[in-house]
Amino acid sequence: MIIVFLGPPGAGKGTQCKMLVDRYNMLHISSGDILRRHRKEGTELGQKAQSYMDAGDLVPDDLIVAMMIEEMKKIGQGGGFILDGFPRTIGQARELDAALEKEGKSVDVALCLEVDDSKLEERITGRRSCSVCGKAYHIQFNPPRQKNQCDNGCGPLVQRPDDTEDVVRNRIKTYHDQTAPLVAYYQNKGNLQSINGDVGIEQVRESLFEVLDKIVPAR
Ligand code: ADP
Ligand code: ADP
Repeated sequence: MIIVFLGPPGAGKGTQCKMLVDRYNMLHISSGDILRRHRKEGTELGQKAQSYMDAGDLVPDDLIVAMMIEEMKKIGQGGGFILDGFPRTIGQARELDAALEKEGKSVDVALCLEVDDSKLEERITGRRSCSVCGKAYHIQFNPPRQKNQCDNGCGPLVQRPDDTEDVVRNRIKTYHDQTAPLVAYYQNKGNLQSINGDVGIEQVRESLFEVLDKIVPAR
């Protein structure tokens, strides 16, 4: 089972993916998390990606596709993947399809979490993430139990350097210019499922369970 999770920055993809892996036997593969890990470790890829990420631009397709294919191979077969933040361009989607086809696989469903632009900025600027496990909180909509501390007890919460107002605006623009065309791409293939992400975290979760329970066996 291979699920692609589409949606603008701050739509709630990461938050929902963490709940989906608890319910279904699937792995969460987030391109943003992998890139941040490369940056932390100071790898060549991390260094190449830095300036794009800081500006809120997309990292070039060739770097991302190679990184994601390697990651999927490393993880192996398992029960399946939820790809969060990848693909983000038509070029990436085509490369993903070609790589999967070689193994006789294909994307089973593309979920698109729809949130109005007017909500995204406040979601992103209020986001705080655990510096150790990456779990996302929101200062107003999803605060941690103890101020600035991850509920998992692992680390202090930090604001991502690209979660500032000016970078966020560029990320939203980049989404509309380069990633939104993927909605039509997957619609044409007949495997798009749109979910209203403009409601509370629990309600979004229920809508996702409703769609996925029909196609993915729960643990
Ligand atoms: P968000 O979840 O807020 O949308 P991500 O953590 O997915 O943000 O991505 C952070 C940054 O990493 C992006 O702004 C972009 O620079 C880079 N990035 C992540 N995934 C991709 C991708 N598939 N293609 C190109 N760049 C990417
Ligand atoms: P993405 O991975 O799509 O960039 P996140 O899951 O990190 O988005 O969520 C962005 C921010 O919005 C986080 O601070 C998160 O706590 C908050 N958030 C997520 N879903 C909702 C929701 N349905 N309503 C309000 N806030 C939300």
